[in-house]
Amino acid sequence: MSAATGGPALPQERRLVTEIPGPASQARLEQKKAHVADGVGTVLPVFVTAAGGGVLVDVDGNSLIDLGSGIAVTTVGNAAPEVTRRVHEQVDAFTHTCFMVTPYDGYVEVCATLAELTPGDHAKKSALFNSGAEAVENAVKIARVATGRDAVGVFDHGYHGRTNLTMAMTSKNMPYKHGFGPFAGEVYRAPMSYPFRDGLSGAEAAARAVDVLDKQVGADNLACVVVEPIQGEGGFVVPADGFLPAVAEWCRERGVLFVADEIQSGFCRTGDWFACDHEGVVPDLVTTAKGMAGGLPLAGVTGRADLMDSVHVGGLGGTYGGNPVACAAALGAIEEMRTHDLVSRAAAIGDLIGRRLAELRERHPVVGDVRGRGAMQAIELTAPGTIEPDAARAAAVSAYCHRQGVVTLTCGTWGNVFRFLPPLAISDALLEEAFDVVAEAFDATA
Ligand SMILES: *Cc1c(COP(=O)(O)O)cnc(C)c1O
Repeated sequence: MSAATGGPALPQERRLVTEIPGPASQARLEQKKAHVADGVGTVLPVFVTAAGGGVLVDVDGNSLIDLGSGIAVTTVGNAAPEVTRRVHEQVDAFTHTCFMVTPYDGYVEVCATLAELTPGDHAKKSALFNSGAEAVENAVKIARVATGRDAVGVFDHGYHGRTNLTMAMTSKNMPYKHGFGPFAGEVYRAPMSYPFRDGLSGAEAAARAVDVLDKQVGADNLACVVVEPIQGEGGFVVPADGFLPAVAEWCRERGVLFVADEIQSGFCRTGDWFACDHEGVVPDLVTTAKGMAGGLPLAGVTGRADLMDSVHVGGLGGTYGGNPVACAAALGAIEEMRTHDLVSRAAAIGDLIGRRLAELRERHPVVGDVRGRGAMQAIELTAPGTIEPDAARAAAVSAYCHRQGVVTLTCGTWGNVFRFLPPLAISDALLEEAFDVVAEAFDATA
């Protein structure tokens, strides 16, 4: 049976003792089916009892290699020592007061740390929330008040969440939007730089995007442009060099706020603190969540102090936003990132994965594109020599990996992209083993 506790002490191995999912997970799946709404799906239905380093251990005693980090959340691992220590300390002291009623240190410390770490050395302030979607909603609220304008510019293939406003900002219909409308108004979509599909330079793609915003919306009506510097759900699309700086410059010249949604790409993931750092882009506002708090729900909007302060007192907040336990977890996670230099670790993981993915592309022409930065790497599967998406092959490769105890995630507008997002606490040995399985999966499904 599995260990009771997770963390890095958990044996770092892939170990399969039953089929996946095993009988104990299958019994629980019956319970899930009976009690949990079908709309809440699961990618790999093994019920987890412990996790840490680079593995997840299930109720049947299987140990699986994690290449997904619970969707880019457990960057420091699932039970990193500084996270669990600080969380324990905080829950023993108090679990909640509501920062809007009576404040506490953790919230202020997280905001001070966000000011330090996010791009740019101007004066910054933050507000904290529970989820990424909530952070994006609040970034739009702030941008509207600060500019006195209504319209919001977003991009094809973008993903910003599942609340009403963020559904409107999200591109993909199934499964995120279908049947859930009507959606919030004043959201306009521009073409993204997608080098594999459009072949445009960053400057060309930016010119195409701002032309749509200029002609179809009008810069004077735009409160903000919200962009993921590397798109997450949309397919790990890395825009061509120069795209982000050109869009940011266009915004700056017209008083449109440039909002970077770094919810998936932030906090060491790409081999820098934030994906914007690679091109020296300094956003007016940045949204963060996922990797920030070691698995606890916490999100933030950080931005120019003058913009953040444009909102009237009481206009920002929420009952649980910046919960003290979540703040303690974030401070612990950030300490782990600093002490273990996870920025460098993400870059090294990127080199290892990049090498394995390049080998894969050599041997399998279905791998149309390899892209990503640091520990945020992807392959896009297409009919050989074309950009015709091959989602069926992606599904087959996924299923094989899952059966062999490797947790992989797909993404992309056409569902034909594999995204690799291992915890940065994973060992090289486990990563190599996981990519041996991925390679096998391509051979077995050829
Ligand atoms: C996950 C994600 C969100 C939404 O975050 P939730 O915490 O799921 O609401 C928003 N933007 C990006 C880029 C994301 O990856």
